[in-house]
Amino acid sequence: MLDKTARTDSRIGPIGWEGRTLKEMLERSEAIFARTGHYQGLKDLTIRTGKPILYEKIFSHLRGGLVNARSTALNISASPIVKEIGELSFALYTPEGESVALSTGIIVHVHTMSDAIKYMIRNNYEKNPGIAEGFIFCNNNSMIGDVHTADVHTLIPIFWEGELIGWAGGVTHEIDVGGIAPGSMCYGHADRYGDGLLISAELVGTDDVFHEDYLQRCRDNVRAEMYWVLDEKTRLTGCQLVREQVYRTIEEVGIDTYKAFIGEAVEEGRRTLIGRVRQLTFPGEYEAPTFIDIPWAQDETVHALARKDSMMHAPLRMTVSGDGHLSLSFDGANQWDYHSFNCSPSAMQGAMWVQLTQTLWNSDKINDGAYFASTLELPYGSWCNPDFDKVSTTLTWFFLIPAFTGFIRSLARAYFARGYLEEISASYPCTWNLTQGGGVNHFGQPSAFTNFEQSCQGTGAQYAKDGEASCAAMWNPEGDMGEIETWEHLEPLLYLGRGLKANSSGPGRYRGGCGSEALRMVFKTPGLVLFSCGEGQVFSSAGVFGGYPGNSGYRHNVHESNIPELAAAKKPYPVLDGDPENSAISALASGREVFDNNQMTGPHAFAEYDLYTAVQRGGPGLGDPLERDPASVARDVNGGELLERYARPIYGVVLVSAEDGTKKADAAATEKERQAMRRKRLERAVDAADYVARERERVLAKDFIAPVCAMYASSMKLSDRWARHFRTFWSLPDDFAF
Ligand code: MN
Repeated sequence: MLDKTARTDSRIGPIGWEGRTLKEMLERSEAIFARTGHYQGLKDLTIRTGKPILYEKIFSHLRGGLVNARSTALNISASPIVKEIGELSFALYTPEGESVALSTGIIVHVHTMSDAIKYMIRNNYEKNPGIAEGFIFCNNNSMIGDVHTADVHTLIPIFWEGELIGWAGGVTHEIDVGGIAPGSMCYGHADRYGDGLLISAELVGTDDVFHEDYLQRCRDNVRAEMYWVLDEKTRLTGCQLVREQVYRTIEEVGIDTYKAFIGEAVEEGRRTLIGRVRQLTFPGEYEAPTFIDIPWAQDETVHALARKDSMMHAPLRMTVSGDGHLSLSFDGANQWDYHSFNCSPSAMQGAMWVQLTQTLWNSDKINDGAYFASTLELPYGSWCNPDFDKVSTTLTWFFLIPAFTGFIRSLARAYFARGYLEEISASYPCTWNLTQGGGVNHFGQPSAFTNFEQSCQGTGAQYAKDGEASCAAMWNPEGDMGEIETWEHLEPLLYLGRGLKANSSGPGRYRGGCGSEALRMVFKTPGLVLFSCGEGQVFSSAGVFGGYPGNSGYRHNVHESNIPELAAAKKPYPVLDGDPENSAISALASGREVFDNNQMTGPHAFAEYDLYTAVQRGGPGLGDPLERDPASVARDVNGGELLERYARPIYGVVLVSAEDGTKKADAAATEKERQAMRRKRLERAVDAADYVARERERVLAKDFIAPVCAMYASSMKLSDRWARHFRTFWSLPDDFAF
């Protein structure tokens, strides 16, 4: 093995197959696909059909190696984001950069690392800085291939007998990346110059060892330097374990079989997605727009260019063709802006990919074949494909997450039309609040933190089943909140409490899963800044088939609180906000309260004993709430997931006390109430044509708040096609504009 993997160096000659350079290999592969429609022109999958057991064995070897690499590597990390939450993943690529197989974990990155590898190939890295055995590359530039700056890639080439036979890649999410404000996803600045340490597909090590000058630059530029450096080692170790597994596989099956296998695996992937689309969905066009609010006109902590109230627009359109091709389009998205919620195309592609792994193609065999079987249209100049490459992208997720809820709702309709009811989901909620910030910590050190309990949100309702409480995030389906004690070790904030948040579930015949909340108290620090993050003025994840969205966000913080006096007097203190209309914080604590719907804020100053509420989201609901089983409504009230006073107005359920003190539904009174509610609905109902005519008058008069008018004006300016679509839908004059 040592002889066969002996040092090869691209500066001596081409490292690709059959004497080609990597760039020639990539261009050839793309030309063959364009000509034949098959990856590498593979019409027949010789191993897959001729030796199916061998094919599956090779796949299992590689997949097992990747999962093992992740499980082993995460024990090297000290970061709770990696260690507790499992925010890392590994993948194996073809020489041209197509993923063949992947580990579990934050698999949104499997395709973004593919983009980074292809960037290096297209930009002649083979000549300069060279690609050789033992080289280590690093990337966190989303314009090259990444979701956002906090996600750091390690990429290593894998050689066999002088040829490059693939790449191993690993990614972790860092606690701090040295942005202008502390925290891994800071925002409030105008552009990339505030984003932090940017590593643009750099050669950062040789001979399997990191360059010391690179590690020193990282230490000098980030706040949580120990975590950064240990995570570098985490990713490199995982990549090396993947490489060893590839060597072992080749030793067993031979290099020719290995080379043939990786091509067949990608082509099989392409065919699998087409097959799944044809089997499960109904051809057609599905539209599901989403919006989010940025209420920054009054926020003094944000940059002057960003200080305005604005909205973002994601008019998602899913098209399924008769032959099983899946297309998503964001045509009509509004322009990028001087905030940190812009997305690179690579981030959007990664998001589509991670959603496919949880819906149409929920098997461990997913790979970049999916990329060849689908298309994604991202309008140039918009927030999802900016025409200014120095935009800030630290918190790309803020609108990427809501934008793709429309994909899941569209799939729900497409599954329904085909009759696959058990696949239907009302989509997922957004993953807020995000508690992050920094300052001097409780050990007296300058520090930064990003709390990842946001990886546990309620899930969306399904067709015949409620969503699950507090357990997943769209970007990591194996979410884990992490231990309170672990976060308290990292953050100078005590948990006064953590619990389920009543009324966070989206109502419906089946409701979404419940969200959670935490009440934090700033402790043992002379001062720090905290961000608040989430939608507050809009619902950014709607329900389906008559179901409602889950909770939207709000802020409830107390500055200069009286907690020390309460503690000295041994009086009760709040452990959660609970019911905001009868807030436990307001009832038990006093001080300067901030209590409003402006959830998205820049870095605000907090002092010791200040209180900070972090409310997580519940999933959206499915179906008419009046069709919900009354016993389930009583169970939700008894379980603290639904406030009792909402059982009747939302669900039409009349509750009475049972002998054991719990609530139960009164069947007869509930039926009567529901009939009355349905009659009221009929009285309020208007003919659809009348409704459209009435709303059309509002559109003609531009009777909307300024941020809505500005958003639509931007969408119409960027896309003539979308402008025509909007005018046609509302029967507006040809010259109508906002
Ligand atoms: Mn990340």
